[in-house]
Amino acid sequence: MKTKIVYSEKCLGYGTWHVEGPQRVKVAHDILESKGYEIVKPQPATEDELLSVHDMEYLWNLKKGLVEDPDTPAYDNIFEFARLSVGGALLASKIGGFSIMRPPGHHAGRNGAALGVYTRGFCYLNNLAVAVKESGKRTLILDIDGHHGNGTQEIFQGYKKVSYVSLHQSPNYPGTGTFTEGNCINFALPPNCGGKIYIETFEKALGMVDADKFESVAVSAGFDTHMGDLASLGLLEQDYFQLGKLIGQLKKQSFFVLEGGYVGENVGGDIDSFLRGYEENR
Ligand SMILES: [Zn+2]
Repeated sequence: MKTKIVYSEKCLGYGTWHVEGPQRVKVAHDILESKGYEIVKPQPATEDELLSVHDMEYLWNLKKGLVEDPDTPAYDNIFEFARLSVGGALLASKIGGFSIMRPPGHHAGRNGAALGVYTRGFCYLNNLAVAVKESGKRTLILDIDGHHGNGTQEIFQGYKKVSYVSLHQSPNYPGTGTFTEGNCINFALPPNCGGKIYIETFEKALGMVDADKFESVAVSAGFDTHMGDLASLGLLEQDYFQLGKLIGQLKKQSFFVLEGGYVGENVGGDIDSFLRGYEENR
C-alpha cells in the first residue's frame, strides 16, 4: 500500500520571494497526487506538543514576530504556519506517512538557532523532533538532507532513546556535524560526491547503529542533495530509490518529514522514487 502524503495548501501562504518558497512544495504535491498518492490534511500542533522540544520564551517571541535573521524572516503569522508544519510531522508519525509541509525544521533548536550557528536556516520549529518526542518511542533519526541538522542534534544530543545519523555536504551551512559525538553520528561529504559514494556511506552509517534497539525510524527527508541544488551531493532520482530501499530493509515503523529541496519538479520525482524503493522492501 502506498505511503500517504501529509499536506495542506495552507502551507503555501508565505514567502513567495524566498528560495524556501511555496512552489517547491506545490509542484511536488501536484506530481505526487498525479501519481496516485492519497493526500491527508494535518491539524496544527498544540502548544503543549511544541513545549516537548522548545522553550516557552522562544515560542512567545516567535508568536510576537520578534525572531528574525537574514535567512529566516519574521513573516506575518509564521507561528501558525510553523505550528501546522509540526502538525504534519505528528500526523506522519501516527500513520507512517510522509509530510511535505513547510517550513522545514531540522536547523531549529530549543531556542531557535542551534549549536552556536548564526541563523535558523529557513526553520522555525523542529517538526521531526516534536513528532519523535511526542511518540515516546526509541527512535533512529536518519537525516538525509544535504545540510547538517544542527537543531535536531542539539535537541537529542545525549538523549538515550534516540540516535541521530546525518550525511551532509561539507563545507556548507551550518558548519556543524563535522564529527561524531556520542549518539549523533555524522558523515560530512564533499560536494557532488555522487550516488555510489553516498550509498556506500549510508550503508556504513547504518552499520554503526543497532537497528534492533529502535521501535521507529524517523527520516528528515531533504532533497537538496539532488544534483545542482543548494547542498548538491550529485544525487539523481534513482539514487533516492536505493536510499528508500535501504530504509525499507530496516523493517521498522517509519515516517518521513520534508526538509530542504528547492526545485519542486525534482522534489516530487525524488519523493516518488524514494517511496517506491521503500515500499518494495519494507
Ligand atoms: Zn538542506
